[in-house]
Amino acid sequence: MILPIYVYGEPVLRKTAEEVDVENTDWKPLVADMYETMYHAGGVGLAGPQVGKSIRLFVIDSEPFKESFPNVRIYKSAFINPVITKQWGDDFVFSEGCLSLPRINEDVVRKSQIHVEFYDENGNFHDEDFDGLVARIIQHEYDHLDGKVFVDHLSQIKKMVLKRQLSDIANGKTCAAYKTHRK
Ligand code: ZN
Repeated sequence: MILPIYVYGEPVLRKTAEEVDVENTDWKPLVADMYETMYHAGGVGLAGPQVGKSIRLFVIDSEPFKESFPNVRIYKSAFINPVITKQWGDDFVFSEGCLSLPRINEDVVRKSQIHVEFYDENGNFHDEDFDGLVARIIQHEYDHLDGKVFVDHLSQIKKMVLKRQLSDIANGKTCAAYKTHRK
């Protein structure tokens, strides 16, 4: 089922999301809906708060990047109760977008390598290093769990330039090509 995407200005995107019960809850149905929603909207990642759920869960699939970046590692997984335990390596600039901020793309600096501990939707624990674009997607989605969006990383000047566009999104004036939540 395609879920409506919550856009900039929705309070849920600014909340710190809660850890979930991995053992006693079946997260597979929500994860399946989140993949469906993400693919429909043309994204490579989608976090719980973006579908109105303030929970520490996101899904990613780097496959769509393959066309523009043939060497990208193809990685698809749900990340439940993820913890980025280490970030290192060079600062790496990349133009990011976000399904919650339609039509905005800006360069964001992030670390190139990370170590993450997380559970998948089958309850399996993972403990892995990521780099390149997969590390990029994970750091972007992880920010959503802490109530952050990528424009928070931009300079004051950049934020000033985007002010009008951001308030238009918050006021429901920007239409996305996918279903968004109406306040
Ligand atoms: Zn996002």
